[in-house]
Amino acid sequence: MDPIVRAHRLDDKALRRLSTDFEDLSAQEIIKWAFEESHFRAVTTSSFSDGVLAHLVTQENPSAKIVFIDTGFAFTETVQYVHRLHKVLGFNLEIIEPNVDLSQDVCGTEMCCQRRKVEPLISYLSGHEFWITGIRRTETSQRAEVPIVSWDTKYQVVKVNPIANWSDDDVAGYIDRFNLPVHPLVPLGYLSIGCAPVTSPVLDPDDPRSGRWPGSDKTECGLHV
Ligand code: SF4
Repeated sequence: MDPIVRAHRLDDKALRRLSTDFEDLSAQEIIKWAFEESHFRAVTTSSFSDGVLAHLVTQENPSAKIVFIDTGFAFTETVQYVHRLHKVLGFNLEIIEPNVDLSQDVCGTEMCCQRRKVEPLISYLSGHEFWITGIRRTETSQRAEVPIVSWDTKYQVVKVNPIANWSDDDVAGYIDRFNLPVHPLVPLGYLSIGCAPVTSPVLDPDDPRSGRWPGSDKTECGLHV
């Protein structure tokens, strides 16, 4: 068992049991648990396709860190939206960037995602024990069975996915209910937003991620694998 997990008395079996129990809890209750377990040091990352996770986390812990990984290939609209949400919701924004020479990285290659997203996050999370994300089961087939809480071997943290079981309608309803700002590309058909060179308006209206890496088999950048 990993020492951090042992320190929290959360072995794999305990995490699996919690994950099952958490299916009946609200996202707010799950986030509350994550902050209490982490002594309020849980870190949240968001792609900022919407403001739902940032709002949920900020309601529970206004000083919580919410991280945006700026690959250098984000849409200008995304960067502006991050700052707009930050101003409206007042969360503790942290922007992390790759810290290596990226001049040879070509968009679309595994090495580009690895160096621009995965390695900066591994480095950032190395000082943390709990990681809150906004991934949901309906987003991709690879995410269809994602647990609400689990041990992440790649990042060596307890990974908490408080809206894993939310539907697209749940997300839309939450945005309406709290009148959250909408990413400016969403009305243009971009329903899942990543790096600009490999994100287009959705090709299939019933598949929000059908605009990610269009024309390729790639569906994940490696952050959540
Ligand atoms: S999505 Fe493309 S540009 Fe963004 S990090 Fe991955 S390969 Fe690089």
